[in-house]
Amino acid sequence: MSFEEDARIVSQELDRYLRESLAGGKRVIHQPPIERLVEELELARHAAEGGLSGEKLAGFLRRYLESTTRLHHPAYLAHQVAVPHPSGALASMVDGLTNNAMAIYEMGPAATAIEFFVISWMLEKVGWTPAPPRRQATAAAGGGGVLTHGGSLANLTALLAARGRVAPETWSRGAPADLALLAPAESHYSIARAAGIMGIGRNAVYALPVDSGGRIRPEEIAGVHRRARDDGRRPFALVANACSTAVGLYDPLEEIGAACRDLGVWLHVDGAHGASALVSPKLRGLLRGIQLADSTVWDAHKLLRTPTLCAAVLVRDARTLDGAFEQDASYLFHEKEQPGFDSIHRTVECTKAGLGLRFFAVLAAMGERGLAEYVERQSALAAEAHEYISRQPGFACAVAPQSNILCFRVQGGDELQLSIRDALIAAGTHYLSTAEFAGRRYLRIAFMNPATTMDVVADLVERIRQIAPR
Ligand SMILES: *Cc1c(COP(=O)(O)O)cnc(C)c1O
Repeated sequence: MSFEEDARIVSQELDRYLRESLAGGKRVIHQPPIERLVEELELARHAAEGGLSGEKLAGFLRRYLESTTRLHHPAYLAHQVAVPHPSGALASMVDGLTNNAMAIYEMGPAATAIEFFVISWMLEKVGWTPAPPRRQATAAAGGGGVLTHGGSLANLTALLAARGRVAPETWSRGAPADLALLAPAESHYSIARAAGIMGIGRNAVYALPVDSGGRIRPEEIAGVHRRARDDGRRPFALVANACSTAVGLYDPLEEIGAACRDLGVWLHVDGAHGASALVSPKLRGLLRGIQLADSTVWDAHKLLRTPTLCAAVLVRDARTLDGAFEQDASYLFHEKEQPGFDSIHRTVECTKAGLGLRFFAVLAAMGERGLAEYVERQSALAAEAHEYISRQPGFACAVAPQSNILCFRVQGGDELQLSIRDALIAAGTHYLSTAEFAGRRYLRIAFMNPATTMDVVADLVERIRQIAPR
């Protein structure tokens, strides 16, 4: 079988899968026991025989697809993972075949050009001026960034850049014991994990006071900063959420940015999920003040319809990112005359996938306007669902949503919420997640799918009533 014939088989099977998923006839989720799947997929036989191609490939793929979680199903309401645009999936395939590991320019000129374009496009959305391409590699003023495998790694990278500014000696002497990080308790767990990886220690993470929506109260920042100083620590960065993971609210970045400037503290905005509002002229006001930050992260594999993974670390001053890592590998890092630039200095990764193509293909298929309309639609749907669910007797929402995330609960305890989710998943009709907010467990919807409508929400409410009658 030729590549072209097998590719046709794969695309036919995927096309059928897409149509079936969108039609909503199949279960959005079902989880057979792993032992059974290993058996049914005949993994051992295929591995031993080889030759998975042609009809055999078609049969295998059909079985594989039967046991996937269907993100394209309109009742997929669970996680902040993109429902990928098919153009993005094709780009993943192109990247897979060409395998241009573009951490150094010579291993992927076109991939580097695309990553440069994507990063610059994002920097401009933030309100920062990108440094020109060749000068990305030198000590030029202007914004810069890098694409990496996920927001968690992106957060770590940005915080390393922040630490590099106050404690550049860390790479030779080890982590100083007197650093402090300021962050609200609502922060994504990858922030605490980054602090752990950096050797700062949990005691050095100072919790910023928040309002009833879990948003940072900017007037409290100076006080927390003073407390850290009184403890003999140097606060090196403050993390703000845009938006928070649990309920999707935006911290007031303008006031936070002003406070950070006054105190000389690096502001890192975790925009993994919510920075995508920047594409919409209607919604970008939610991030007013983001240009005051020093760094931000933005996941294209969340609200930009891009297949996993494609996360951007963005910094206002490209030089700070080059200070995040300080390593020697003579076969990779050396002064060279070249027609492009290397991004290896800016990332944990050495072999680096050409992630930019995945997002670029989606952007070029939908257009900026199309992406903006998608983000606006998902937020509007969350607002409409909030209004609808709040009206239902026995139902209550955590907060009025600002993004496409909606948390609600049914009258009863935390156990009830968890059992409702279990029952929905077992039936395979709706797939949602749960989150803890303000000490209570909520059912949580992330409206990622452009095919989800209010009918799905009404049906969900109806099912929940059957599961938990009042
Ligand atoms: C999803 C998320 C992350 C983690 O990003 P991954 O791409 O899943 O690693 C970090 N911060 C926030 C606010 C998020 O929503």
